[in-house]
Amino acid sequence: MPDKPTNVIDCKAIADSIKVELTKQVTLLGERGVVPRLAIILAGDDAASETYVRGKLRDGEEIGIFADLHRIPIDADTNDPEVAARVTAEIRALIDRLNADPVVDGMILQLPVPPGVDEDSLIQAVLPAKDVDGLHPRNHGLIMQGSPHFLPATPHAVQQILVRSGHDPGGKHVVIVGRSRLVGLPLAIMLVQKRAGANATVTLCHTGTPDLAGYTRAGDIVIAAAGVPALITGEMVRDGAVVIDVGINRVDDTSRKRGYRIAGDVDFDSVQPKVAAITPVPGGVGLMTRVMLLTNVVRAARSRLT
Ligand code: NAD
Repeated sequence: MPDKPTNVIDCKAIADSIKVELTKQVTLLGERGVVPRLAIILAGDDAASETYVRGKLRDGEEIGIFADLHRIPIDADTNDPEVAARVTAEIRALIDRLNADPVVDGMILQLPVPPGVDEDSLIQAVLPAKDVDGLHPRNHGLIMQGSPHFLPATPHAVQQILVRSGHDPGGKHVVIVGRSRLVGLPLAIMLVQKRAGANATVTLCHTGTPDLAGYTRAGDIVIAAAGVPALITGEMVRDGAVVIDVGINRVDDTSRKRGYRIAGDVDFDSVQPKVAAITPVPGGVGLMTRVMLLTNVVRAARSRLT
């Protein structure tokens, strides 16, 4: 097998080093009688969500966090408004129970919820102090104010990859492609702030951006979070740029047994040879996202001691 190019950021090594830090913190909490506990809510049986949830449960176990899965089976079509309302109410009741349970430190509503289910109202129902996904409007607002409580895991993962791989965004021009509430928008807000690991000049591109390449070519750091396979090609980035690929896309591939492969938003083959650093997909931002989520769970558990 050919050697991995040296400019591919070793996200697994970064994730492992954070897991070591977290395991120490969990041990210290255990000595004071606190076992961090995460509740994951999974509505329906979306295959990708099942995979993500399995990964979260495994990661939690690895560092000593107790994680339990609450399944909401879906037995009717949620495109029917009555069914959607019933499922929304069922999830809401579970969230209320978990909010009130003092041993549950953090809660995740695995997204996306089935079509028709009121995602926004459910996100808002999670107590901000247990919102380890950092999606509650209060937690978003705290990021805006520069005093975050829980940082959303994927933007935090991107920031930590940059900092821990020696590509601090401070003073750099960061071009983000994608303005979602989950990734691009909070990341832009985080990186533009005057604080350690940030202090960048940020350009936020989206579907309304004409001449996307004109912007990405101007970036010292390009972060692709658009959900479009191979959107960013070699001619769209400057020599020596740092490229972070957030995308996780299923692309048909008949040569694979399962019929698809996972691809990022970056055309790795044309971009990798000309950049200073690049993250792989899979094994890049996704891996780190799971670890940053655990960081939030440990933080939530620590607040039991205060
Ligand atoms: P989204 O669909 O909510 O948002 C995509 C954004 O990209 C939109 O703001 C849109 O304006 C922009 N966009 C789409 N096509 C574009 C184009 N051609 N040019 C410019 N901008 C364009 O998606 P999301 O939830 O932000 O996720 C983005 C990608 O990141 C997906 O592939 C998703 O699977 C992946 N993701 C990965 C992780 C992880 O842990 N690595 C976490 C969340 C999302």
